[in-house]
Amino acid sequence: MTVLNTKRTVHTWPQIILFTVLGTLLCIALAFIIDCFSFEHWRFQWGSDPQNNIIIPGLIAPPIFFFLLSRMRELAIAHRQLQLLASTDSLTDCLTRRAFTTLVDAYLEQVSLEEKQRGGALLVIDVDYFKVINDEFGHDEGDQALRMIANSIKSSLREIDLVGRIGGEEFSVFLPGAAPEAAQSVAERIRQSVAQSLFAPLGKPIRMSVSVGGATFEPPSRFTQLYREADQQLYRAKRTGRNRVLFKASGTGTIALPTTALH
Ligand code: GH3
Ligand code: MG
Ligand code: MG
Repeated sequence: MTVLNTKRTVHTWPQIILFTVLGTLLCIALAFIIDCFSFEHWRFQWGSDPQNNIIIPGLIAPPIFFFLLSRMRELAIAHRQLQLLASTDSLTDCLTRRAFTTLVDAYLEQVSLEEKQRGGALLVIDVDYFKVINDEFGHDEGDQALRMIANSIKSSLREIDLVGRIGGEEFSVFLPGAAPEAAQSVAERIRQSVAQSLFAPLGKPIRMSVSVGGATFEPPSRFTQLYREADQQLYRAKRTGRNRVLFKASGTGTIALPTTALH
């Protein structure tokens, strides 16, 4: 999952050495250019000892460039770590709601400008009867359950998919480029993965489940519209029994996937 872009920053040691060498060569070239002109008499004049134009910048420039570029590298790393901290939910390691919506909206905007129209899908996933886990086993066990569900979701996804924790026990998954059938099978895989996972708070095994609402899209589309459509399906999945996947494909009605009764 690629979230952050530091491509434009010099941050690897080979890059630092390369830019130090290039910077030094530039300084030597500048020394020669300046030396070619006599500002006093405003006439072309070779320096008294052209070797100085190599030796002096060659001694002074490398440590200065190296120091400055190393500092830039440290700052780039610190900036990247801060961005990661700010965009990641500390409990589940998923994207925060803000980072998730920003990334999805950026993707949707980008694909709407492209000639080759790439679709995809958005899933909204809500844990069923989660309050009961908190009430019966305590908040810490509830947190543990959320971590486990987040891992089940992540293990069902591709590297390019995005997963965000967009509310207390609500997650969202963005599947760029996924065809409707593929998106539905991912949603079903997530549902099954949670339903089959073992969770035994205080040594008592319990069944957990999630309801999933999904919507596919063709550009142009916006996150808010896509989210609304997927959330409507989630709401219907909750009302019609939970532990199930309901999908709204673009331009068609609701698709209900068969579920195996677990409760
Ligand atoms: P439903 O099937 O209708 O979704 O029922 P539910 O019990 O899952 O839904 P409800 O909205 O009633 O309860 C959600 C609960 O999630 C309530 C809240 O205390 C709990 N919750 C929200 N965030 C966290 C968290 O970070 N940690 C823990 N342990 N619980 C949380
Ligand atoms: Mg819930
Ligand atoms: Mg909820």
